Amino acid sequence: MKEKKLQIKRRPTITVKIGNLQLGSRYPVLVQSMTNTDTRDTRATLAQIKALQEAGCDFVRVAVPDREAAKALKVIVKGSPLPVVADIHFNYRLALESLDAGVSKLRINPGNIGGAEKVLKVAQAAREKGVPIRIGVNSGSLEKKLLDSYGGPTAEALVESALGHCNLLEDSGFRDIVVSIKASDVPTTVTANRLFAGKTKYPIHLGITEAGTRLSGAVRSAVGLGILLAEGIGDTIRVSLTADPVEEVGVAYGILGSLRIRRRGVEIISCPTCGRTEVDLVTLAEDVERRLRTVDLPITVAVMGCVVNGPGEAREADFGIAAGRKSGVVFRHGEEVCKATEKNLVKKLLEVISTDTGIKIEI
Ligand code: SF4
Repeated sequence: MKEKKLQIKRRPTITVKIGNLQLGSRYPVLVQSMTNTDTRDTRATLAQIKALQEAGCDFVRVAVPDREAAKALKVIVKGSPLPVVADIHFNYRLALESLDAGVSKLRINPGNIGGAEKVLKVAQAAREKGVPIRIGVNSGSLEKKLLDSYGGPTAEALVESALGHCNLLEDSGFRDIVVSIKASDVPTTVTANRLFAGKTKYPIHLGITEAGTRLSGAVRSAVGLGILLAEGIGDTIRVSLTADPVEEVGVAYGILGSLRIRRRGVEIISCPTCGRTEVDLVTLAEDVERRLRTVDLPITVAVMGCVVNGPGEAREADFGIAAGRKSGVVFRHGEEVCKATEKNLVKKLLEVISTDTGIKIEI
C-alpha cells in the first residue's frame, strides 16, 4: 500500500547515547516503558523486560526506591536485553549506586534529590560513566516556590522548573540531558512542551503523567503526544497506563504508526460495522488482529463488513477481507484472490498473507 505521509520536521536536538541507542532528532523516536514489578524481584523484573522487548520497547525504566533495589539493578542490567534507566527520587545515593550497577541512563527530579550540591555529585558521577540524565518535571511534584509564584502548576511554571534544573547541570559542565515535562492534562502538557522546545536543544521525552486506565490513558496520550509529535516535538515517548506495561508499548506504536513516524507490526483497518453487516465482523477483526500481533511486517490488512466500502478498502490495503452474507472475498495487493465462508475467511486470509510474504503464521 502506498504510504501517505505528513510533512513532519523534527525539532533539531543534540544526540544523547543510551547504552547502544542514540536519542535525538537525527534518530527514530524511541519507545520506552517502565516495569511495574518489585525491582528487588530480579526474576520477575527481567521477565517483564523480556516481554517489553518482544513488544518492541527500545529501553526500559525501573524504579529504585531503596538500597536493595539499587543492589538488584546489577543483576537486572546484566540480564536485560534492553538498556536500563534508573528512576530515582529523594535519595542521591541511590543514583550513585545505580550508576555503579551499570545503568544506561538516570531519571531524577532535581527538585527532590536534596539540593544543588547533591545534584552536582550525581552529575559528576554520571559524566565519568558517560551516562545521560533525564530531568523529569511533573505537575504533581513542582517546587513550592514556583507553585506560589505562578499560582499552581501552569505550563510556564513547569518550563521554568525544567530550565532551572538544566542550568544547574550545565553549570557543572553536564550536557547529556534529556527533559520531560508532564502534566496529567493534555493542554498543559502540550503548551509546556511547545514552550520548552523553543528554548533548548535537549531531546524531549514525551508523556502524559497519570494518564489513566487502558482506554482513557490511550486516548489522552494519543491526543497529547500526537499533537506534539505532529509538530516535530518529542524524541522518545512513554505512554503511561494503569495496565500491563506491555500494553503501553502497543499504544505507543499505535500513536507513532498513525502519524507514519515509525511503524511496527501489521496495521489493521476495520470498519465500525453497521446495519449492512452480515457476518460477525467484530470477532473476525479481533481474530485477525490477535493472529497477526507477533508478525512484525509493515503491511496493512483491511477487515471490512460489506460491499459498500469493503472492496475499496480491501483493495487499497496490502491484504484484506470484504465480507458479504455469511461469506467474504479475500484480496491481495488489490486483486481478488478467493472467496470463503465466514468460518474460513480468517484462515484463507492468513494463508494468503503467509504465502505472499513468506512469513510463517500460525493458522
Ligand atoms: Fe457498514 Fe459496510 Fe461501512 Fe462496514 S464497510 S460500516 S458494513 S457500510
